[in-house]
Amino acid sequence: MEHMKFISASQVKNVLTFESLIPQMEKALAKFSDKKVVQPVRSVIPVKESGGFFGLMPSLCSEDNVLATKLVSFYPNNKDVPTHNAVIAMFNASNGVPEVIVDGEVITAMRTAAVSAVATKFLCNKNPKVLALLGSGVQARSHFQALSTLYTFEEIWVWGRTKVNFESLASELNGTACHTAEDAVKGADVIVTVTSSTVPILKKEWVKPGAHINAVGACRPDWQEIDPELMRSVSLFVDSRDAALTESGDVILSKADIEAEVGEVILGKNGGRKTATEVTLFKSLGLAIEDALSAKLVCDLLSSSNSS
Ligand code: NDP
Repeated sequence: MEHMKFISASQVKNVLTFESLIPQMEKALAKFSDKKVVQPVRSVIPVKESGGFFGLMPSLCSEDNVLATKLVSFYPNNKDVPTHNAVIAMFNASNGVPEVIVDGEVITAMRTAAVSAVATKFLCNKNPKVLALLGSGVQARSHFQALSTLYTFEEIWVWGRTKVNFESLASELNGTACHTAEDAVKGADVIVTVTSSTVPILKKEWVKPGAHINAVGACRPDWQEIDPELMRSVSLFVDSRDAALTESGDVILSKADIEAEVGEVILGKNGGRKTATEVTLFKSLGLAIEDALSAKLVCDLLSSSNSS
């Protein structure tokens, strides 16, 4: 461990772009669904004192020579420091020697949004024009950036819990601040739910036929962001069936049927959207292999920028 490296958040920010990360996340989802990845459902312990959680997310992809684990904390009540903090420890997959620790805060923000962008690319109707963001934190910003890499939205509608925060995000994105979630999603082609709510914030009757939803919050089995009636009415896609059935309150409590993993759609094993009018929903939980392959991309980008 004499030569262990550390890659900081600002180094990650300097090299990682959505243009490079979105295809890498498409690869991660496909490899996961093609059973090329060894990865258990994440192991989580509650930190009751602060209403938070601490999680361990290991994965191995021998094809890519990647053996890594993310250690992540989620403290939803943090005010002066981020609510999500993480490190990704990378080991040499051939000899098991630890090589690099990569800061995981920026990677978590970017890889989650890049994965939603991949799901949107495979599931939404062509040429979406109206984007709705429910939530105004880190993931709301990164989802706007990732989706804007693929699409040019004519309208951006933003709703959140705290007025000053969602108004500030709406003005930052040249969008419109909405005082109710209903106002924000009515007429939206793509809806992103990125809150730390534990109860549903998006109702079935507000969603227009043909919309695509990326449901990103509510990563605990007793938490929900989406109305159970809406869950049961959509074509439901997930990142991992095992994770969805273990960790997602939206899936478990609604008893909604899972159509497929997004990786299966990428691999052509599932056709994805069947009609222009159905509502598709991607339930994201976040996979360890997304973090591992994002960290590998960062290492590769840094070493090529150092050698040029
Ligand atoms: P932030 O803390 O940056 O933002 C959280 C947002 O949720 C804020 O807009 C906050 O509003 C809002 N919020 C908090 N509580 C409630 C509530 N009870 N009702 C409505 N809105 C609420 O977190 P992130 O943006 O980083 O994460 C957003 C969600 O995405 C979290 O649930 C997180 O766990 C999840 N996530 C999922 C990942 C995945 O891979 N699927 C990866 C990373 C995060 P306010 O303005 O009042 O603070």
